[in-house]
Amino acid sequence: SVPLTFFGGLGGASRRGILVKGSNYMDALAKLGVVVFDKTGTLTYGEFAVEAVHPTEFDAHELLHLAAHVEHFSTHPIGAALRDAFPQEAHDDCKITNIEEVAGQGVRANVGGRLVCVGNEKMMETVGAAWHKCHRVGTIIHVAVDGKYVGHIVINDHIKDDSAEAVSALRKVGVERTVMLTGDRDEVAKDVAERVGIEEYHAGLLPTDKVSQVERLLNEKKADATLAFVGDGINDAPVLKRADIGIAMGALGSDAAIEAADVVLMDDKPSKIALAVAIARRTIGIAR
Ligand code: ADP
Ligand code: MG
Repeated sequence: SVPLTFFGGLGGASRRGILVKGSNYMDALAKLGVVVFDKTGTLTYGEFAVEAVHPTEFDAHELLHLAAHVEHFSTHPIGAALRDAFPQEAHDDCKITNIEEVAGQGVRANVGGRLVCVGNEKMMETVGAAWHKCHRVGTIIHVAVDGKYVGHIVINDHIKDDSAEAVSALRKVGVERTVMLTGDRDEVAKDVAERVGIEEYHAGLLPTDKVSQVERLLNEKKADATLAFVGDGINDAPVLKRADIGIAMGALGSDAAIEAADVVLMDDKPSKIALAVAIARRTIGIAR
């Protein structure tokens, strides 16, 4: 018998903020065996705050100003954090052209005739800048001008309140493997993975590396189990498409992610995945 409080099917899922784009994804959710999480905006809020500024040239204010300028048009949460950290009233009209956002690396632009790069170690390597190693836990944004290293900015994000619960709830519904993938550095990835209870993680990945990781995990899984990738949609549309089930964060997520996804979590709570599995199994059980 079906309890009156149970809302089954696609409608029931949507009443709980879980948008499932078709009944075939209900079948796939019922057989969920592997869940692959993106880090930023998925297990973390994706809201970075500037913690420290370490210039090797200029002063701290100038370094932050330069980074905020280059990030002016970025849609990435890191770009938003660097812009927010800079006082608006001090905004001047220095010239920026040729802005190029490189997925999984950062942003490069021409500022007053000089090539300014703002991003991670990979981005520094592309211009041959000798970046300084930083041992603090936090996401590190390096800055180089014409290939010369000028310092770094430490920024920090926070783990979502329900991420750890989301991972343990997945184990309880029988998901055998949970994995985290990120373009961020190893120190940050290790810290987040440990805190949320994910044993396997891979850091320093470009968007294309995330696709290869998902392909490997698809090969390794049991034939009757399905694999889900969960992301916020910033640069992960290809990997959302590659998974059996692409799950996107609806509130933070980009339009591209919501398009590419098979399931959308309207309130951005990863704990809704285990609930989706439970609803899917009950729906299928009732249909049989
Ligand atoms: P994740 O894999 O955790 O979701 P992303 O793939 O979005 O993260 O970004 C990976 C890394 O690329 C970031 O940790 C950062 O080092 C760098 N990066 C990406 N976009 C930017 C940006 N706009 N400014 C500076 N760095 C960036
Ligand atoms: Mg991401």
